[in-house]
Amino acid sequence: MNRKALHQISYGLYIVTSGADGKFNGQIANSIVQVTSRPATVAVCINKENYTHELIRSSRKFTVSIVTENAPMTFIGLFGFKSGRDTDKLKNTKTQTGATGVPYILDYCLGYIETELEGELDCGSHTIFVGKVVEADLTGDGEPMTYAYYQNVKGGKSPKTAPTFDQDAAPAKPKTSAQRYVCTVCGYVYDPEAGDPDNGIAAGTAFEEIPDTWTCPICGAEKDKFEPEK
Ligand code: FE
Repeated sequence: MNRKALHQISYGLYIVTSGADGKFNGQIANSIVQVTSRPATVAVCINKENYTHELIRSSRKFTVSIVTENAPMTFIGLFGFKSGRDTDKLKNTKTQTGATGVPYILDYCLGYIETELEGELDCGSHTIFVGKVVEADLTGDGEPMTYAYYQNVKGGKSPKTAPTFDQDAAPAKPKTSAQRYVCTVCGYVYDPEAGDPDNGIAAGTAFEEIPDTWTCPICGAEKDKFEPEK
């Protein structure tokens, strides 16, 4: 089987929110598709281990916010690489409560689709949830981010919990002194020439010299989750 064919399927980049009674969460999802027109329904694919999965099951609602190309990696990292069980991701994000009571995202998003759960399909690691659209609107300008744009222009990659994660990725080549290191969780690249001044790492600091307490500025992964850039 040539898995490269699977890499050629097109996707977008979205934030799926869910919850009820003041307990809400959102996560990045790329596998979202409108499946019918009348009535309008959309399907989302969510990892069973994710907090949002639990919230969709309990509230029977989910909302899709459409992420724009100008979304920074820190924003994508917050929703894509951190768990809502440990972090209140919506705390410092501009949101609006929708018709179903689930918040949709205003920051770096151009519109939203609110749904009520119609059914689900168990797909092993993930569940496909199908929701009937009950409300939708545009909230901003910009181009919707495609998954190809996220990967090719933004330098992003799939987290291990994504339906499109490929565990057969090529191994890294040996490091050199000015070697850049890549976060295997989120794709952030540590460049020794730039350092990470926001987090106390001066420009010119080799990766090996960074204290072990340092973590990925995008996703919070520990230093041992980094590997030399190919
Ligand atoms: Fe990271």
